[in-house]
Amino acid sequence: MRDYLVAGNWKMNGNAAANAELTRAILARWGGGPAPVRLLICPPYPYLRELGKVLAGSSVALGAQNVSQHASGAYTGEVSATMLKDVGCEFVIVGHSERRAMMGDTSHIVAEKFAAVLGAGMRPILCVGETLEEREGKRTEAVIDEQLAAVLKRTGVQAFATAVIAYEPVWAIGTGRTASPQQAQDVHEHIRSRLKALSAEIADSMQILYGGSVKGDNAAGLFAKPDIDGGLIGGASLKADDFLAIAAAAASLN
Ligand code: PEP
Repeated sequence: MRDYLVAGNWKMNGNAAANAELTRAILARWGGGPAPVRLLICPPYPYLRELGKVLAGSSVALGAQNVSQHASGAYTGEVSATMLKDVGCEFVIVGHSERRAMMGDTSHIVAEKFAAVLGAGMRPILCVGETLEEREGKRTEAVIDEQLAAVLKRTGVQAFATAVIAYEPVWAIGTGRTASPQQAQDVHEHIRSRLKALSAEIADSMQILYGGSVKGDNAAGLFAKPDIDGGLIGGASLKADDFLAIAAAAASLN
């Protein structure tokens, strides 16, 4: 039985006061939380250290939204995996579709970032997903296979003993158009079967999150599917009520 992970990707939103308030509100109302549901927040870089202090010793984990693939040196503006570990991150999102589409994160770079996160002793959340054009062209599985293969080639299946995968169809991100539970389940099952061919044990224990317009009123339907182990939440993670409604949906399924 896999635990649920409900992760908030705050993207480039908020400020020091608002982000501290949101963190405190989530923490106060979630408390210890039901054991099989873990919460994670991924604020922008400048707030990680401060919010890490707020979360210290709590059941809510801290994560970053991106990382450099390089260890250190002359990479102006970049942040390394060891720096993220240093400020208390447990998770790092890599390969978000916004970065793949707008910031030049190729599958090769994503694999390097994934390896850097693991190397620093944190857990990568690898985002994979197809565009609408790719889905309509019946290329969903091929696209996801390519995104997965780059990482598997770099680190091997063993990495997924701690790594998490987030299936995020690009057409569902920030659009209000969620994949149906069955559409999501079909892709999650495909991802798990890909890993299963390499290690049944790892494939069975690995968490696969769904992301793309998850809200309080559609979360339970998605999370009830056998291969969906929680969500990566964008817009609805910016309000404590909305985020906690999604967490409550996960808790209601245990
Ligand atoms: C995301 O960007 O990871 C995401 C899932 O966004 P939203 O929930 O807003 O669709």
